[in-house]
Amino acid sequence: MSDCIFCKIATGKIPSQKVYEDAEILAFRDLIPQAPTHILVIPKAHIASSAAEITAETAPIVGRIFAVIAQLAREQKLESYRIVNNCGEDAGQTVRHLHFHLLGGISLGAMLTGIQE
Ligand code: AMP
Ligand code: ZN
Repeated sequence: MSDCIFCKIATGKIPSQKVYEDAEILAFRDLIPQAPTHILVIPKAHIASSAAEITAETAPIVGRIFAVIAQLAREQKLESYRIVNNCGEDAGQTVRHLHFHLLGGISLGAMLTGIQE
């Protein structure tokens, strides 16, 4: 999508601090980190605007995203971490390109998401 910021990051039109990349998936550091480790993991293609649009056809890449998150967590030496997906405006979603937050490196406690408004 031409006006989607994460599509622009995926194609390199907007720079990002990449931590993982393959043909289908990109992981980069969040611009406004809410924890010492705050990484966003996205499908490069705009396969869904939110988790609500995940289908049986797109589910395999979501599974691969979770495998990438587990690999990143090992690399970042995170024993405990939180995976967050904000689905919809009232849930705090601000970018309408499917993405998962990997948060760690601090005690996340009982906070619901680890993300402060
Ligand atoms: P969400 O609120 O769940 O939609 O998450 C969107 C996230 O994208 C927020 O945590 C933002 O800080 C982050 N973000 C927005 N623009 C950029 C950017 N150019 N580079 C890295 N992270 C970004
Ligand atoms: Zn997009």
